[in-house]
Order: sequence, then structure tokens, then C-alpha cells
Amino acid sequence: MSYEVIVVGGSIAGLAAAMQLARARRRVLVLDSGEPRNRFAQLSHGFFGHDGQPPSAILANARSQLLSYGTVSFVEGLATHAVKTGEEYTVTTASGALHTASRLILATGVSDDLSSIPGLQERWGISMLHCFYCHGYEVAGRRLGVLATSERSLQTAMLLPDWSEHVTLFTNGVLALAPEQLAELRTRGVGVEAEPVVALLGDAPALSGLRLDDGRISPVDALFVNPRTRMASPLAEQLGCEFDEGPSGLFIRTGGDKQTTIRGVYAAGDAARPAHNASWAAADGVTAGISTHQSLTLAQSVCR
Ligand SMILES: Cc1cc2nc3c(=O)[nH]c(=O)nc-3n(C[C@H](O)[C@H](O)[C@H](O)COP(=O)(O)OP(=O)(O)OC[C@H]3O[C@@H](n4cnc5c(N)ncnc54)[C@H](O)[C@@H]3O)c2cc1C
Repeated sequence: MSYEVIVVGGSIAGLAAAMQLARARRRVLVLDSGEPRNRFAQLSHGFFGHDGQPPSAILANARSQLLSYGTVSFVEGLATHAVKTGEEYTVTTASGALHTASRLILATGVSDDLSSIPGLQERWGISMLHCFYCHGYEVAGRRLGVLATSERSLQTAMLLPDWSEHVTLFTNGVLALAPEQLAELRTRGVGVEAEPVVALLGDAPALSGLRLDDGRISPVDALFVNPRTRMASPLAEQLGCEFDEGPSGLFIRTGGDKQTTIRGVYAAGDAARPAHNASWAAADGVTAGISTHQSLTLAQSVCR
């Protein structure tokens, strides 16, 4: 079936983009495989007007508001392939259905590589946390750790004392700290543990401590860690979009209007920005939706 715009990814960025197009009375298809990145968390925080709500409830509400517009279709399923054919884009789903449109918005998100530490997956979003703005308040005052994955972990450790006075940075063979960095951490009251972490302890999804290589146990209630991310979908690569390197992995390169390096293909949300949260994803989606709408009529979007 033919649409004006296909949005691949029906979570925060995709639904925000589709809403702008729906309100402009355009024929939009949203394709979604139902695996938003924050599905492991019980509650979402800091998202304007939705603080403390379950992520699934936020999406269900947004989807039902979107579907009240008559020009929107929502299909559950995985888009496996996207290709430009003439002036149109054709998206194939895992069920073999073909959908075409003159514009494409990729809001497919990223996925976190949780394979590096045994026990991380079952604690992810509960006691293993990626962001203190999202979940720091809920563990304030507890024994907090930062498991180093890159240079960025040093910043996390420097900021985390705003949430607790019991903070330890586990350098885990990843960070070699200079004397002045150690002094800065001391000023902030952060302990530093150089012995590698070998196991996570406690009844998952809870965490009670970390076993270190020398056999010691360091008591920790919540551990902040920034895993590597990868594109949740191969579509941008298939279409020939260019990428940039962010602090946790690649993201799709876009202009200020969220158009990718491929004309007619827009991208929004975690997949198309270096820093990630729900509010930025929603804002990106709005920009992509408005730019895409304007591109159907104007040579240049006002969002550039
Ligand atoms: C554990 C955890 C907790 C978090 N908590 C918070 C929080 O409290 N507050 C906050 O602001 N941020 C939070 N975040 C960050 C937030 O989840 C992301 O920034 C946000 O979800 C990004 O939205 P998005 O729409 O870009 O991508 P996503 O929400 O990841 O959605 C992408 C969608 O695209 C779909 N998709 C992917 N590929 C395809 C395909 N090929 N075909 C069809 N559909 C596809 C997926 O199924 C998914 O539904 C959290 C992140 C994590 C990991």
C-alpha cells in the first residue's frame, strides 16, 4: 500500500514525528516491532508531563492519541528492508508485506550491548542503570557504583555525589587515572577501586555488591554503567545513510532538520543523536515530522 510517509519505529521519536504529520492530514504508516529501549525499566522519569509513569503506559497513551487521526495506520511488525525505487521508498516487513511512500522517517532507536558483564541483562534498568537523570533520584543516598566503560565514566563518577555520598568508581582496567583526576574525585568524596570486577552479587534484579578479582566484596546497591550501543535496525545502512561516532556508538548523521545524508530519508531519536533520553527523542521526532511534512511541498524546511 502507498503512503506519503512511512515512519519505521513507533516509540517516542516515531510517534512524535507521526503526530505532526497526522495533524497535517498526511497519510502516514507507522511500523513498529514493539521493543523500545527503556522496556526494562518499571518507571520512566524526567519526561515532561509523564514523570514516574511506566514506559508502556506512556507509549500506549501516545499511540491511542495518534490513532484518533484518520490518516494514520499502525502496523506491528519488523521492517527488514528499505530501498529507494524511483522517487519512492519501499519498506518490506518480516511478514513479506511491501509498503511504499515518498518519504521515510527512521526512528528505530539503538540497542544496548549487555553481553560484556554476566548478570547485567537481568538487572538492567533496575539496579544496573545507564543514566542518573533518569534513575538517580530513586537510588539517592544508597551505596552507588560506577563501572568504568570509557573516559565518560569519570564524568559520571564526578557528578554522582549529587545523588549520594557513598560513591565508588570501579576503574575495572578501563580507566587509568592521572593524579589530578584522583584528587578531583577525592574532593567529591568518590572512592576509587582499581581491582577488576569479576561478578555481580545479590538476587537479580537486585544488586548487593561486586566481587573483585582478589576475592574482596564491595557492597553496592546500584551500579551506573554506559554500555556500547548499536543501531537497532540495519535500514539506515541499507539505504546508504552516513553515520557519526558518538560517546557510546554510531548514530545516523542528520542536519538540523533531521534529514539524513540520503534525500527524503529523515531520522530521529536515539538512532540519530549522540546523547539519549525520552525528551530529546520526542523533540527530534517533532522536528523530523515537521521537516518531512514541509519537504512534501517546499524545497527547504524551516527547521534547517
Ligand atoms: C533501561 C533504560 C531506562 C531508561 N529510562 C529513561 C527515563 O527514565 N527517562 C528518559 O528520559 N529516558 C530514559 N531512557 C532513554 C529512552 O528510553 C530513550 O532515549 C528513548 O526510548 C528513545 O526513543 P526512540 O523512539 O528514539 O527509540 P526507542 O524507544 O528505542 O524505540 C525504537 C522503536 O523502533 C522499533 N524498531 C526498531 N527497529 C525496527 C524495525 N526494523 N522495524 C520496526 N520497528 C523497529 C523498536 O521496536 C522500538 O519500538 C532509558 C533507557 C534505558 C536503556
